[in-house]
Amino acid sequence: MARIRVLLTNTALGPLDYRLDPGIEAPPGTLVEVPLGPRRMLGCVWDEGSESAAMAAESVGDNRLRPIFGTYPMPPLPLELRRLIEWTADYYLAPAGAVLRMVVPGVALRDGGRPIIEYRATGTTPPRMTPQRSEALEKIGERQGSLRDLADMSGASEAVLRGLIKAGALEAIALSPDVPPPLPDPAFAPPALSEEQAAASATFRSAINAGFQPFLLDGVTGSGKTEVYFEAVAEAIRQGKQSVILLPEIALTEPMLRRFEARFGCAPVAWHSGLRQTERRANWRAIASGEALVTIGARSALFLPYANLGLIVVDEAHEASFKQEDGVHYHARDVAVMRAKFADVPIILASATPAIESRAQVEAGRYREIQLPARFGGATLPAIRAIDLRNDPPDRGAWISPPLVAELSERLERGEQSLLFLNRRGYAPLTLCRTCGHRIECPNCTAWMVEHRLARRLSCHHCGHVMPPPRLCPECQNEDTLVACGPGVERVADEVKARWPEARTAIVTSDTLWSPARAAEFVEHMEAGMIDIVIGTQLVTKGYHFPNLTLVGVIDADIGLSGGDLRASERSFQQIAQVAGRAGRGDKPGEVLIQTRQPEAPVMAALIAGDSAAFYAAETEARKDARMPPYGRLAAIIISSEDAVAAERAAKAIGAAAPDSPDMEVWGPVPAPLAMLRGRHRHRLLVHAARNFPLQKVMREWLGACEWPAKVRVAVDVDPYSF
Ligand code: ADP
Ligand code: ZN
Repeated sequence: MARIRVLLTNTALGPLDYRLDPGIEAPPGTLVEVPLGPRRMLGCVWDEGSESAAMAAESVGDNRLRPIFGTYPMPPLPLELRRLIEWTADYYLAPAGAVLRMVVPGVALRDGGRPIIEYRATGTTPPRMTPQRSEALEKIGERQGSLRDLADMSGASEAVLRGLIKAGALEAIALSPDVPPPLPDPAFAPPALSEEQAAASATFRSAINAGFQPFLLDGVTGSGKTEVYFEAVAEAIRQGKQSVILLPEIALTEPMLRRFEARFGCAPVAWHSGLRQTERRANWRAIASGEALVTIGARSALFLPYANLGLIVVDEAHEASFKQEDGVHYHARDVAVMRAKFADVPIILASATPAIESRAQVEAGRYREIQLPARFGGATLPAIRAIDLRNDPPDRGAWISPPLVAELSERLERGEQSLLFLNRRGYAPLTLCRTCGHRIECPNCTAWMVEHRLARRLSCHHCGHVMPPPRLCPECQNEDTLVACGPGVERVADEVKARWPEARTAIVTSDTLWSPARAAEFVEHMEAGMIDIVIGTQLVTKGYHFPNLTLVGVIDADIGLSGGDLRASERSFQQIAQVAGRAGRGDKPGEVLIQTRQPEAPVMAALIAGDSAAFYAAETEARKDARMPPYGRLAAIIISSEDAVAAERAAKAIGAAAPDSPDMEVWGPVPAPLAMLRGRHRHRLLVHAARNFPLQKVMREWLGACEWPAKVRVAVDVDPYSF
C-alpha cells in the first residue's frame, strides 16, 4: 500500500493523505478524484515534503487512510506549474487549493458531473476469472460509463472494476474526442517590418528557447508592438512550443483573434469567461496536451497547464484589470513573470505606458527594455492640448466646452471619426432631491445609485443592486424634485445627439459591449465608417486601431486625480495617454483635447508636453520618498461582516495583535474606502513595510495567531492596486 498526498480544490485545507492501491500509478501532478467526508473532490497528487508553510498536511494513521476513487487520464500537471501554485498561495496568503482551482476548473475534467472518461467491455476474457468479475462483466454487457456508473450498474466494487481494466477486460474510451486546434502557420502572412521592429523582433526570436528572460516592450501607441511580439510567437511555433498572450479585457480578445488569424492563417485558442462550457473543456484539454500552440486569453489563462510553454506575452501590461480583486487577490502580470521563471522561458510585457513597477525592474537591471519610440508607417503622435474649463466652461447643463464643440463639428464636416472619453458608465453618477438634498444610495453599499437611463433604472456599480427610478423623493415624498447630477457617458451622448442630430453615435462601455460578439460588431461598424462619434469609458482607451479616428476629447481629466489613491496620478496619466493614442493612427494626424480645471497639475503638464519621461521621473521620486511601492511594500487586510459591531471588534483585535517591528507599520483599522459593500461592514488595516521585509511570513504568523468569529471574514490583499 502506498500513501499519497493530495491537494484538493474547493477547500482551504492543506494537502491530505490518501491510500493508493497497488497497480495504480499516480506520480505527483496526477489529477485524481478522492473522497472528503461524503463528497467526491477533485485534487492533484502533491509532492512529498513540499514545504510551503501555507499547507499543513493532516496526518492520519495508515489504517484510517481512504483510497482515491481514481485518476484522470490527463497529463500530470508539470512540476513548474505545481511550484507556481505553491508560490502564488504563499505570496498572496491564499489557500493552495483555491489556486489549483484556477489551474483545473471543474469543467476541464467533467461532463455533467461525471469524469469524461468512460469504460466499456473489450470482449477479452480476463486470465483470472472470479465469480465477481464474471457477474460484473455480464451486467455491464454492452453498456459504457464511468467507473462509478459501471459500479452502480453491476453492483461490483470499483476495485473489482479496476482489476478488470488491468486485466484488459474493460477499456477506457475518450468521449467526444476533442478535435485538435488548427496549427498556426508562421509563414502565412509575415509583415514587412520597419527597421526598429525588425531589430526588436530579432531580439525576441533569439530569446525563444534561451531560458528565462523578462522584457519590457515599451513602444508608443501605434508603434506596432503587436507585430513585433507576433514574431516571437512565430518563432515559438516554429520550435513547436506553446505561447500564451494575456489581454486585459475580454472585449479585446475578439479583435486580437482576427488580427492573429490575418497573420497566422487560423485563429488561436481562446480562454476567457465568455466561452461555452464545451469550448472551455476542449480548449483546456488542447492546452494540457500541448496541441494548442497559441492561447489568447484573459488573466486566468496564465494558470492553464501548458504542456510545453515557450513564451508568455502580457499585452497592455500596465492595466489595472490584471489585478484580480476577488478570491485569490493576485496580479496576473506579476504571477506571469513567476510562471516564466519556473518554466524557464522569456516573457514580454508590452505597454505604451508601463507601470512604475515595471520601469523600476528595468532600472534595477532585472528586465531588459526594448523601445519602439515612433509610430509605425510614419504616423505621428497626436498633438495634445488642454482646455482650461475655468476659462472655457461648457454651457449650463452641458459638458462639452466650446473649443471641443468646434473641433467635433470640423471632424463631422470632414467625415472623420471622433472619440469622447469619460470614465463613467450610465447617465449620471448621482440622483439628488432638489428640495431636501436627499441622495439616493445603495442599500447594501456606501455608494450612490447610478442612473442608467437607457435601461430605465438606477444601479449600484459595486454590488449590482438595481431599482426603478423613483418618481417621488424617498425622503420628502415630493414629486418631480429628483435631479440627475454630473455626467455619465449616456448623458454626454444625449448632448452630442442634441447638438448634432445627424451624427451617428455609439456608446462603448461594459454595458454595451458585454460580449465578444458585441465588441466585434462595434469594431466592424467603426471600420465601415458607420459611426461618427464614440462616447466611451476606459474600455475604448486600449488596443483599438481606427485609422479614420482623428479627434479625442477627454470630458473630465480631473476625475481620477481626486481621492488620494497611491496610483491616482499614474492611472490618470496612463488612461489619458492611452485614449490619446487612439487618435491619428492612420495617415491623418490626430488631435487630443483634454478638459481640465488644473492644467498645471504635473500629470497634465507631462501629457501636454508629450514628456512621459518627466512624469515617470517625478512619480518615481515621490514613491521613493514615501517608500511606497515598488520602493516599499503594502498589504491590505479587509475585515468584514454583516454584523457591524463584530467587524469593528475583530478589526481592532487584529490591529492590536500586530507584531512590533521597526521595518513595518500598521495603519488603521479604519473604515475601508467602501465602508459597506454587499451588505457587509468593512474595516481595513494597511501594512507598510520596507522593500525586503519578509511580509508574508510575518503576516501569516500574525493572522495565524488571531481568532475571529465565523461571521467575520478576513481577506488579505498583498500589493493592493487601489486602496
Ligand atoms: P501598438 O500595439 O504598438 O499600439 P499596433 O501593433 O496596433 O501598435 O500597430 C499599429 C498599426 O500599424 C496596426 O494597424 C498594425 O497593423 C500596423 N502595423 C504595425 N506594424 C506593421 C508592419 N510591419 N506592417 C504593416 N502594418 C503594420
Ligand atoms: Zn451596492
